Amino acid sequence: MLLSIVVPCYNEEAAVPLFYAETARVLEGCAAKDSSFTAELVFVDDGSADSSAAVLKDLAARDGRVRYIIFSRNFGKEAAMLAGLREARGDAVVMLDADLQHPPSLIPLLLPAVASGEFDCAGTKRTRKGDSPLRTFFSRLFYRLMARITDIEMIDGAGDFRLMSRPYVDALLSLNERSRFSKGFYPWIGFRTIWFEYENAERAAGRTKWSFWKLFQYSLDGITAFSTKPLALASILGVLLFFISLIVILWIVVYRLITLNTPHPWTPDGWASTACIVLFCGGIQLFTTGILGQYLAKTYTEVKQRPHYVIRERS
Ligand code: UDP
Ligand code: MG
Repeated sequence: MLLSIVVPCYNEEAAVPLFYAETARVLEGCAAKDSSFTAELVFVDDGSADSSAAVLKDLAARDGRVRYIIFSRNFGKEAAMLAGLREARGDAVVMLDADLQHPPSLIPLLLPAVASGEFDCAGTKRTRKGDSPLRTFFSRLFYRLMARITDIEMIDGAGDFRLMSRPYVDALLSLNERSRFSKGFYPWIGFRTIWFEYENAERAAGRTKWSFWKLFQYSLDGITAFSTKPLALASILGVLLFFISLIVILWIVVYRLITLNTPHPWTPDGWASTACIVLFCGGIQLFTTGILGQYLAKTYTEVKQRPHYVIRERS
């Protein structure tokens, strides 16, 4: 059987040689156990500013199993993974980060579950050891929210490090949307998945490209890609405010009849109450229009049907 290893790389000149050495060692072990085992490595250079592309070309020249795709600019990890999956020819495909945070030594553990045909995906879950408490808190919050407002079941800590069967990969490739939220794709396509847990590892070299702000935007992407519930918020708030206004109107009329002209901060002629109401309703209106805008923007990018990435060079 042929195993494809897909590796998205962005500014990983320092990590790629380490990654390659470790992976080659693991692949040798696999081949020693099973004579029919072969592998290919598909590296996708996501428009790196450093010499990653040169490192990949050098690798491909030395090792016939290595192929590469070089993007014309940085298109993001999701685009790089898509390009790699499209390029992979294997009966099974595994996606790994170049920074060795996804230990290649797990491949021999994951492989039998898929090779035997028992499972279509051998997924991995990382522990949150070493993450900042704040980041862990917000991730947990996000998973809980997603579970409530979507009908897919996302698993906390499960990432892109997974070994997949050919049908599984083909199903992933059939999802052709522009704004790609892979974490949601996996549970959406279904299939039988077996989980393996591994200890969170530090990056081998270089630094992470995820800032808190980027993660926040990514989670908004996830919500709008898999749920339309936020759109209902405007109608719910509208109905709620309408009933509140009925009660308030009644109260104002009654209050006026009882107290006649005694001044009071919450009497109808108080400017403070008017200002509060205007600000409150204005805020809610802008908030719900903003949600509408998020979905409109999504629809706009999808309708344009631009390609997911542009390739500058390939092996
Ligand atoms: N990556 C990519 N394009 C990007 C950002 C990241 O291809 O725009 C790659 C990166 O080279 C690495 C993997 O995606 O192989 C994971 O990135 P990173 O280690 O920065 O993320 P983290 O592990 O911190 O979640
Ligand atoms: Mg990493």
